[in-house]
Amino acid sequence: MNAVLKPQMHPDEWKARVELAAAYRIFDMLGWAEMIYNHITVRLPDSVTGGAKQFLINPFGLHYSEVTASNLLKIDIEGNKLDAGNPWPVNPAGFTIHAAIHDNVEGAHCVMHTHTTSGLAVACTEGGLAQNNFYSAQLHDLVAYHDFEGITIHADEAPRLLASMGKRPLMILRNHGLLAAGHTLPLAFVNLWTLQRACDIRVAQAALGRAIPIPTPVAIKTTADALQFDQRFGAGQDVFDAMTRLMEQRCGPGYKT
Ligand SMILES: [Zn+2]
Repeated sequence: MNAVLKPQMHPDEWKARVELAAAYRIFDMLGWAEMIYNHITVRLPDSVTGGAKQFLINPFGLHYSEVTASNLLKIDIEGNKLDAGNPWPVNPAGFTIHAAIHDNVEGAHCVMHTHTTSGLAVACTEGGLAQNNFYSAQLHDLVAYHDFEGITIHADEAPRLLASMGKRPLMILRNHGLLAAGHTLPLAFVNLWTLQRACDIRVAQAALGRAIPIPTPVAIKTTADALQFDQRFGAGQDVFDAMTRLMEQRCGPGYKT
């Protein structure tokens, strides 16, 4: 940790930084990293910013395994760096899609985006997710789709992307990848994990021939039960805490420096 920076920092900012750095390391542990590309972003709480829209993002040029609490960048909604002392650049183009969602989707405190192989494979299929497995059944009407328009760096795509997303917490970017937004980082994480598993199973079962479809009423019930479970057990916090402990066992405590 930058010993000069930390004492001046609001404890809620430091807490957000440690949680986000842990998320980057967990993504790497799960094989969800994309070299130096892609982002997980969080909005800093009003207790830190006084209501200003400020965000944390990975430093452009570092692998997810190199992200730490102190090298995360603080930026505004335009992607301008607010950490004068941080030597790393921002990837402002990469923040475009995150900025649109943070700024316009209610409760989008955290936004995550991946290009995992099975996620992208499903995103490339006409039918998208298939309602035929334990995980997709937990996502009934929670996954939006958005058509591919090229690399998502142009602000003019934002209104169409937001219209595609609506109020859904998950989105399959066709031909591109997966996206999750949530009012907490752990909630976005467990939702994205469920979508990732649904994509993994979709790819695996596609090779085996026709799958058994799950009737819509069963999917509706399964999703309602899954959401209820999630709320009763801390909306992903318990899962995220366990994954943080596992990551720290394997990778050491460097993420929180
Ligand atoms: Zn992408």
